[in-house]
Amino acid sequence: MANEFPFFAAHPELTYLDSAATAQKPQAVIDALVHYYVNDNANVHRGLYTLAYNTTEAYEAVRGQVAQFINAKTPSQIVFTRSTTDGLNLVAASFGPLVVHAGDEILVSGAEHHSNFIPWQQLAKRTGAKFVVAPVTKAGNTDPAAVAQLITKRTKIVALAQVTNVAGGVVPLAPLADQVHAVGGYLVVDGAQAVAHMKVDVQALGADFYAFSGHKLYGPTGIGVLYGRQALLAEMPPVQFGGEMIDEVLDAQSTWAPVPLKFEAGTPNIAGVFGLRAALAFMAGLDMKAVAAQDHALVLRLRAGLLAIPGVTVYGDAHSAGIVSFNLQGVHPHDVATVLDEAHIAVRAGHHCAQPLMARLGVPATVRASFGVYNTAADVDKLVAGVAEARRLFH
Ligand code: PLP
Repeated sequence: MANEFPFFAAHPELTYLDSAATAQKPQAVIDALVHYYVNDNANVHRGLYTLAYNTTEAYEAVRGQVAQFINAKTPSQIVFTRSTTDGLNLVAASFGPLVVHAGDEILVSGAEHHSNFIPWQQLAKRTGAKFVVAPVTKAGNTDPAAVAQLITKRTKIVALAQVTNVAGGVVPLAPLADQVHAVGGYLVVDGAQAVAHMKVDVQALGADFYAFSGHKLYGPTGIGVLYGRQALLAEMPPVQFGGEMIDEVLDAQSTWAPVPLKFEAGTPNIAGVFGLRAALAFMAGLDMKAVAAQDHALVLRLRAGLLAIPGVTVYGDAHSAGIVSFNLQGVHPHDVATVLDEAHIAVRAGHHCAQPLMARLGVPATVRASFGVYNTAADVDKLVAGVAEARRLFH
């Protein structure tokens, strides 16, 4: 598998274990970007000449491929964004004020990434709503029972990651969706860490909104997707204004293009959309059951290897979707990562944009290893040996 990713030929010495931050790109994705700029470069939705028309047609067709990828009903439910962050902020800024008012409640988990935490915290501040943060499990994952207990008649929005980004827990969302819908609220899902590791079905999840990023899915940076229920997208006002998101502009007032174009002001990331198309084609060629089995085998191997080293705390559990966070007693995670870097092992160390979770775990940071389809048992063994070496150096 790694031979489809030119990055590994460029870095034969490197063990890359940071795919939760960003995944490496298959050659086909890189080729798609170059192909667009060489052959198809024209702006979309503007030019009437053949090339611009064809590029627009091809660009619009990608919505259908994204819709299929997450089982959305129609391509018009797919809004192209910059990223997960961009999509979640759009929902909070545009949809939020339509449904959240003073005295209402917005509920998140204490394991959320800042991207799915701060937009809601700020929306609560702006509207006078209560911002409720559900307790997490001891292992550092979202606790679905704790979330369920905190859903009240005042809950207007529940915003959760499908897979958490520090401990990798998979959150069973469908029952929570039913519960929040029963009180007249909405479920917003952060799919950033889920899409590369499991088959996503937004309808089965009961998601009202679902956001993800291309770059964690073996696609390019700067392109993301926001899925929304058709009726909700239709009533949401645009938050950015400019070219191609309008119906008519008069001196005194303007009207908007239909969904999804009203949310895509200005020239979009056209190359990114074609890169995303190539990433989706790459994903379509994967057996997602095999991907999950490989994630599971690597997680088990890494957990066992780490737990055999005295003084190592491992967060999460054996069911993690390809993410393992840990700490080595008495050694700052940054120092662990530095030792690993010297051994050409790339992991992430820090708060992982999850400071509320770090506070709950009582640590400033963790070391995090995360897997992509190119990782192997040998990578895991190298990491375990590197952590053992870090322990030897610092103890
Ligand atoms: N949500 C989760 C769970 C993440 O792991 C990340 C990125 O690490 C994000 C949101 C933000 O993704 P992006 O930086 O691509 O917007």
